[in-house]
Order: sequence, then structure tokens, then C-alpha cells
Amino acid sequence: MNPCYQQVQFLTSAARLSQAPKDEGIEVAFVGRSNAGKSSAINVLCRNKNLARTSKTPGRTQLLNFFSLNEQARLVDLPGYGFAKVANQVKQQWQGVLAQYLEERECLVGIMMMMDIRHPFKNYDIQMLEWANHIGLPVHILLTKADKLKKNAARNTLFKAKPQLSQYHNNASIQLFSALKKNGIDEAHLILDHWFFSTEKN
Ligand code: GDP
Repeated sequence: MNPCYQQVQFLTSAARLSQAPKDEGIEVAFVGRSNAGKSSAINVLCRNKNLARTSKTPGRTQLLNFFSLNEQARLVDLPGYGFAKVANQVKQQWQGVLAQYLEERECLVGIMMMMDIRHPFKNYDIQMLEWANHIGLPVHILLTKADKLKKNAARNTLFKAKPQLSQYHNNASIQLFSALKKNGIDEAHLILDHWFFSTEKN
């Protein structure tokens, strides 16, 4: 594992894009439905239990949260989508910030998408995949909470997900992941390494 992931630090939160760090260097965004296991994934990928806040209340992560690997590289925890428990107005505001970030951010080079292995390819996931494909942004999917299924069932889900994924995006990859069992970390790091360290900087 590249030591830089253990040195990841919280940088800042932004309720609006104007509050985000300067649009330069490289960013990888983490997206997913609320409760998909995004915060848990960020925490284990950075070996820091407290980095991203994990919560049992869907939709608690309301802001764009920026974390720095180094001066030029940032990981961005985007608001979870598909949240049910919040007022419509608030919901629309978050969706707005999320969409604006995804559309306008020049330094964004890739999307890590978390999908609960028991509920893959929900509407919002598909929308996100099709949108990313449309603008040519690569996506890597973590099928989270893989420990909730037996090994064979998990493998089978992955096997079936691959052709499904290729219907929505032509440069996307997918893997099994468990934050609980710490499975799939090396594979996810390889993708992050590629995005962070093999991409031409702005
Ligand atoms: P987020 O809303 O996407 O950030 O999701 P969280 O990381 O807060 O996780 C949502 C819930 O799923 C929490 O109760 C976590 O403990 C649980 N969870 C997350 N990852 C795993 C995992 O790998 N295995 C299991 N069994 N539960 C997990």
C-alpha cells in the first residue's frame, strides 16, 4: 500500500462549490447511495477509523468533504444520493451541489462508486454511471458489504454485474469489497494509484 493513503487528512467541507479548494491538481470522488458504505470504505482505504464519519442515519453526510493525500491530490466524499429521510428542499440543495461539482470540476479524474452488494444498480447509480460515461469519466465500483453474502453468492453477483455494468459505461470496472473484513483494499488501491499517480496534472 502506498503510504500516502495513511497520511490522508481532512481538508475542508463545502456546502457550495465556491467553498471548495482551488480547482487544480487531481481529485477522485466517492459517490453512492446513502448507507451504501461509503464512509466505511474511505476509512479502511485510508486506515483511519475516524476519517469519514460513518452513520446509521441515511443522508447525514450533507456536504462535499475534501481530504488531502498531498498538495496535489484530494479525495472527495460527495453527499450520498437516494436519501429518503430529509426534507425535499434540503434534498434538492444537496443534489444541486452534487451535480454542479460533477459537471464543473476540472480536476476530477475518476469516480469510486459504492453499491451495496445486496442492492446493486439502483436508479441513481445507473444515472450516475450513464452521466459519467457521457462525459468520459472512468468509474470504479466497490460492491460493498460483500461479507453479507456467502463467498459463492458474492462471486456470482460480481460475475453477473460485469456485463450489466458495460451496458451503462464503457470504461468502468467493478470488484468485491468489505470494510468489515477488510477485503478488496489492495484492488481498490491499485485503481486509486492509477488515477492519482498516472494522470497528467492540470
Ligand atoms: P455511507 O452512508 O455510505 O457513508 O455508509 P456507512 O459507511 O456509514 O455504512 C452504513 C452502514 O453499513 C453502517 O451501519 C456500517 O456499519 C455498515 N457497513 C459499512 N460497510 C460494511 C461492510 O463492509 N460490512 C458490513 N457488514 N456492514 C458494513
